[in-house]
Amino acid sequence: MPQIGIDLGTTNSLIAVHEEGGPRLLPNALGEVMTPSVVGLADDGETLLVGRAARMRLVRHPGLTAARFKRFMGTGRRLRLGRRSYGATELSAMVLRQLKADAEAALGEPVTEAVISVPAYFNGVQRQATKDAAELAELKVLRLINEPTAAALAVGVQERESESTFAVLDLGGGTFDVSILEMFEGVIEVRASSGDANLGGEDFSERIAADLAGGAGLDWPRRDPAEQEALLAVAEELKRALRPGQPARARLALGGRELEVSMTAERLEEIASGLLARLRRPIDICLNDSGTEVEDVDRVILVGGATRMPMMQHLASRIFRQLPDRSTDPDHAIALGAAVQAGLAARDAALDDLVMTDVAPFSMGIASASMMNGRYFTNRFSPILERNTILPASRSQVFSTIQDNQRLIEVKIYQGESAIASENILLGELEVDVPPAPAGMQSIEVRFTYDVSGLLAVDVTILATGRRIGNVIDNLASAMSRPRRPRD
Ligand code: AMP
Repeated sequence: MPQIGIDLGTTNSLIAVHEEGGPRLLPNALGEVMTPSVVGLADDGETLLVGRAARMRLVRHPGLTAARFKRFMGTGRRLRLGRRSYGATELSAMVLRQLKADAEAALGEPVTEAVISVPAYFNGVQRQATKDAAELAELKVLRLINEPTAAALAVGVQERESESTFAVLDLGGGTFDVSILEMFEGVIEVRASSGDANLGGEDFSERIAADLAGGAGLDWPRRDPAEQEALLAVAEELKRALRPGQPARARLALGGRELEVSMTAERLEEIASGLLARLRRPIDICLNDSGTEVEDVDRVILVGGATRMPMMQHLASRIFRQLPDRSTDPDHAIALGAAVQAGLAARDAALDDLVMTDVAPFSMGIASASMMNGRYFTNRFSPILERNTILPASRSQVFSTIQDNQRLIEVKIYQGESAIASENILLGELEVDVPPAPAGMQSIEVRFTYDVSGLLAVDVTILATGRRIGNVIDNLASAMSRPRRPRD
């Protein structure tokens, strides 16, 4: 049975399969390899539409259409579709179900297993939501693969003999990832990953749309959904048409008026300067974490549709002091790489000489309490797995009581880089009962296990009794916090 690779994107999704000759993209029922990640209902309010048919209705029927929901994966946010509302996991499941059906039609066989790509900077909650979506679509996830790693695999599979260090910058519709990788003798090793899970091409479109609205004397956030979608559609058109030194023009029908609007590359740089600044930070962190000097980077690979913006190419050239490699199709690389990973999972003999290792882009740990000079400090973050740890990994730490006859040890699990626990993302919490004893005499062991998909499992053992509490995070799904949206 074929195993497929899926790029489940914010804007578009793609499927690929690994065959003897290498990875190959599979077309959908319309013969296209890119399926818009859009779900909608037809006018009868019942018939489900997925892909292009749904996207075509986005501007005229925003109340019956849902798009860009990948941004809400792992959050409680619900989107209205006709009379019902759906979470991002359910909407993603509808896209996945369609992709599965398209793959089955293209291959003439049932498809039940897949490797699905996720942004490297997706946190544990978002990864689990992606896995849940696949399960709803009756697809078993062989592995979640980080998007830049998938892109690197697509390149690496063709150049197994070479030895090089490369940077992958992946700016999709809703997320930005950076990875620095090393390749030697068929081994592809991710050295470090960083990113921003809330920064993508759609943010640039929003800035353009808000600017157009402002230029027309309209207030962007207060436009109704249909007008916002109309503005976004024109913003998207302008963004794609922009060339340095050449204004892009379009017609915009809004509030009964027909307007001629334009955008220049210079104006976009101005209104999106905050976004550009946010793109720089993860690149710097990734270079620093991997201990790589800019001069050591042999190639810069750009993936994700939004890296087609000239502004993004300039940024990459400026930072890495070289022109980015344009031999890889930015839209296709991730799905092709996910298919290579599916081939590796299936132990495809053609891939025998290829090995890939990836890292966790975040630190994971717990909030610990300590007593210093007679005062308690309870909000200190103690990482158990540091960021850029090679996956899979399992590590534990022992925590002890700090008061005489303390009956409870509170375990709060966080992900992030701040030394102050509450500034990180809370993944789960529980209180562990311990027998009374003098301070420091009761201890628990907290074990963090990270699988190859970047999913975290936490186990707690009370050392005095040997009692083990497993799957702490699963048990505490309801305690999971929403990923925060950073401000630029
Ligand atoms: P992806 O999630 O990789 O499909 O990326 C889609 C994003 O790429 C969307 O935000 C698109 O607006 C953007 N995009 C696609 N083509 C272009 C282009 N030619 N110029 C600028 N942005 C583009």
